[in-house]
Amino acid sequence: MGTMALDMMTERVRQIGERVLTGGAITFEEAVELFERSDYDVHELFHVANRLRLNQFGNRIHLCSIVNAKSGNCPEDCGFCSQSARHATEIQKYGLMSTEEMVKAARKAGEQGAFALGVVTAVRGYSASSKDFQKLVEGIRAIVQDGRVEGHASLGIMGHEEFRQLKAAGLTEFNHNLETGRSFFPKICTTHTYDERVNTIKAAKAIGIRVCSGGIIGMGEEPAHRAELAFALKELDVDEVPLNFLVSVDGTRQENVSPLPPLEMLKAIALFRWILPTKNIFICAGRQHLGELQSMIFFAGASGAMVGDFLTTKNRSVSDDLKMFRDLGLDFDGPLSAPPPVSSPSVGERGGPGSSATYPSTSAVRHGSKSGAAIFSASLRTAMYSRMRSFTLCRP
Ligand code: SF4
Repeated sequence: MGTMALDMMTERVRQIGERVLTGGAITFEEAVELFERSDYDVHELFHVANRLRLNQFGNRIHLCSIVNAKSGNCPEDCGFCSQSARHATEIQKYGLMSTEEMVKAARKAGEQGAFALGVVTAVRGYSASSKDFQKLVEGIRAIVQDGRVEGHASLGIMGHEEFRQLKAAGLTEFNHNLETGRSFFPKICTTHTYDERVNTIKAAKAIGIRVCSGGIIGMGEEPAHRAELAFALKELDVDEVPLNFLVSVDGTRQENVSPLPPLEMLKAIALFRWILPTKNIFICAGRQHLGELQSMIFFAGASGAMVGDFLTTKNRSVSDDLKMFRDLGLDFDGPLSAPPPVSSPSVGERGGPGSSATYPSTSAVRHGSKSGAAIFSASLRTAMYSRMRSFTLCRP
């Protein structure tokens, strides 16, 4: 590639970036072009993405962790998922936790400095009449009434009545990932449709529940599919965006998919930031594929990260992560001079196995919403603000 061609394309990237930085938007066509082309200086993307992150979040990053509430035996066929009953994976499988176990997990999460516990189950979804769903509603209600942490959940495909009951029980945030771009989704899953996922998100939003939704990069999709995903999330105006990179698990349909090169991963993060400049973008599963470049995620525009092990795959140690955040001068969930003690990523007695994807959570409390804050006492709020580390039980 000639220097002049590289300079011209880099200048074009710079111009689009200037527009985004001054409150304009990148178009879908431009995003596809930037995802697809490599004949420009990719650092130009990072420079703008980092400025966008700082404009929106300052130097603060948000951290979260996950654990699973019902593992394995999912009837769906998501190609990446170790919890699909159609995949011969070596994971621990177990049924739904009892209400007592959920409350116990919530208390432990609270003790560890978390402000939220997301109850996560490996299922297609629920109807309000099902026994397990009613158990989950009870579990959320018990967590909320216990008052230690917020009640969040990730329970698959649902509709208005299910969300109505969960909201009445005190649920404030729901995770439901779109996973990938619409046109690639049928290659990933054939047992439910993209629209079922979209409709679930719409139903949660319509009833006033915050939505956390993102996807997995590097499942064999084309770069343009990543733009599709980012623009779908933009159109749905989700509240949080968890970004995962495929961790191929033995026994799944995607066991042989190789990780993306680190710069390609960072480029994806940066372009998601360009497209979703105000959203909380968390980097979750697959961060380890960045190797020596892990610390670059924030300069590429990420505003948070998942710490601790994922549901079926390992993350690096929490202490290494916290050291990295401090070395970067980032403010995470509390003053740097007194970081919250993080002893373990898991709170549930039964936690551990599950899908490789994530559910990073940011609560209404963290965002200062009255409805979220109302469920907490003043003293608890003070404690949470001083140690704001989110904690979720999570599914993909
Ligand atoms: S991603 Fe969710 S719906 Fe798909 S197989 Fe895994 S647990 Fe089931």
